[in-house]
Amino acid sequence: MKPVVIIGISLMILLAVPYANVVFADQVNYFQSEDFKLDHSPTICAFEPQPDSQFPNLSQVLLSRTQYAVLDWQNQLNLGVPTRQPVWILNYKEIPSSQQYGFDDSTCDITIHYEREPLDTNEQFQEAGVTNFSYSNQANIVIYYLGVDVKQGETLVGHDANYNYYQYQYAPFYTNHLASYPQLDMTIRHELGHALGLGHYIVSSADLQNIVTGQEDTPSIMVQDIINNGVVHYSITPLDVNEIKSIYGDNGFGQPPSTTDKFSQIINQFDKGLSSSSQGLSTKF
Ligand SMILES: [Zn+2]
Repeated sequence: MKPVVIIGISLMILLAVPYANVVFADQVNYFQSEDFKLDHSPTICAFEPQPDSQFPNLSQVLLSRTQYAVLDWQNQLNLGVPTRQPVWILNYKEIPSSQQYGFDDSTCDITIHYEREPLDTNEQFQEAGVTNFSYSNQANIVIYYLGVDVKQGETLVGHDANYNYYQYQYAPFYTNHLASYPQLDMTIRHELGHALGLGHYIVSSADLQNIVTGQEDTPSIMVQDIINNGVVHYSITPLDVNEIKSIYGDNGFGQPPSTTDKFSQIINQFDKGLSSSSQGLSTKF
């Protein structure tokens, strides 16, 4: 028997946006730009999933993981902002099954639906989640809730007198189990990142390799990661927060950039106070 020589490992990407991104090999460690921007604090509508007899606690798990992810984004963005006056507001709303028929989702800036796996089994990427953008400036997220695992396949790609040459590939597949919390948490945070206006964060293939094997923490939640057992470090990072602020400024979604003078900043604060109060405020100024 001939000895085995590994000549290549290729990784498949699991988190995808549905358009091609051109990646130049010599450019790494930057965010791709996303052609989507919010113009006000978004309302995020999470649609209770259809019952799945295989997973009795499905809606409780998916909705609670989603709510934590939304809160995490909001908390990370407001770090360093006085707690009583958060400027980064994400309004989270759950739409129970009983209210979904005929529901007008134009009141939602971001919608989140849940499906077992992509309907089109020929999809190029077996993805854990996807975000689409509509012409009405709405971001539509789908989270696939079956677990994803990877299996290694080998292909004989050549031989000579002494060796057989194999290429090893990690091929992702859907398990028959509910996705793990790390998979759900990472996927939901990643897709929410797209919906807030972030593109992918590009790393070198060497770094990607280290990230997916768990040897390196990911520098951004927006790295296109393969999801495998090694990936448990999936946090929203300061890099992600800074990128949001470089897009929107320091005063929240749809607020004027921080270069505005002090006077208009104060006006903005009062505006926010007024609009977020259900009773209305009478403000002396
Ligand atoms: Zn993505």
